[in-house]
Amino acid sequence: MKYSLFHARIRNRCSNLNGDLFRNHLSTSPKCQCGCVIEDADHFFFICPKYNLQRQQLFAATRRFHPLSANILLFGKESLTTEENGLIFIEVQNYIKATERFLKVVLDLPCLFICIKMRLACSSLCGFSGTLI
Ligand SMILES: [Zn+2]
Repeated sequence: MKYSLFHARIRNRCSNLNGDLFRNHLSTSPKCQCGCVIEDADHFFFICPKYNLQRQQLFAATRRFHPLSANILLFGKESLTTEENGLIFIEVQNYIKATERFLKVVLDLPCLFICIKMRLACSSLCGFSGTLI
């Protein structure tokens, strides 16, 4: 499983987070399962009580880069080195993996829509090549 793909999808607001699905007209509600009104990147990384344990690990591993924001987790920080931003991205992908947030939904989704929209080669169901003819 390529967790960098989920990372890229969250970055581009084409993820399976309900806020993104709603924004892309693939869902009727942006609500999180926890009851919060919108499940967006901020909610996923910083707020959702479902991932408190996984979040502790993410925050501990990135302690020297605090204070964090969803923007830093998704895009990195200009003042950091490539290696430091790489470390943040690895920890973000570890967090995504540990939450298992995207494992089930990816099987239910019309992933072709998302793969085509992002021009990404699909590693999941649809097998989109990554380029449109
Ligand atoms: Zn939540």
